[in-house]
Amino acid sequence: MQTLISTTPKFDFQIWGQRLMARFRSHVVATDSDQLTLDDFLHQVEDELNAGLSVSDHDMIACTAGCGSCCRVNVATLSPEALNIAAYLRRTCTASELKQLCMRMRQMLVAINGLDDDERIATNQPCAFLNEERSCSIYPVRPLLCRSVTSTCAEACRAALRSNIFEERGTVVMNLFQKDLMDAAFNTLAQLWHESGGDSRSRELTAAVYPLLQH
Ligand code: SF4
Ligand code: SF4
Repeated sequence: MQTLISTTPKFDFQIWGQRLMARFRSHVVATDSDQLTLDDFLHQVEDELNAGLSVSDHDMIACTAGCGSCCRVNVATLSPEALNIAAYLRRTCTASELKQLCMRMRQMLVAINGLDDDERIATNQPCAFLNEERSCSIYPVRPLLCRSVTSTCAEACRAALRSNIFEERGTVVMNLFQKDLMDAAFNTLAQLWHESGGDSRSRELTAAVYPLLQH
């Protein structure tokens, strides 16, 4: 996919990332506890996004609940994001829903084991968190990488994901401000985690969350 549009005035992502880091240094501390919450961090990021997107930016973005065509790619997920998602699932799902979800996740892990990004797309396996209405069942806590992706044309996304040949994928135009903002938030969160002693490497979403639901 290519990132081509932004009508947003110049924005210093580095300075913003530093401010975010200063604000959350004492709040986002590496732990394996179920008590970790990224609510405040994510609200701050979303508030900045909403302040930065112009009306015309909003008008151009074609993403809607129920599209979900892009929800079949590897999603790089940080440990704090995975912990936050697992805690959310424990809070909001019944025991039976969690059991079914874990079964889907296990099947997904078998299906995508060892595949690179292109091979994963070729399997056409939807994300384990995509529900029957083709919406994200963990929307409030979805990874930053999911938040970074937009498009001005859903059909262009579908065409790009259908093609196994990179050169024939065409252009998917996404909002550059949104992508860069979420990338800066991702890097900031990774650095906060690293500074407090955690492992700042990302893992594929299912592989990151599944083990956390097993105990
Ligand atoms: S990025 Fe494309 S496929 Fe994904 S929700 Fe937006 S329009 Fe749909
Ligand atoms: S976590 Fe949600 S938004 Fe991200 S790929 Fe899965 S269903 Fe889509």
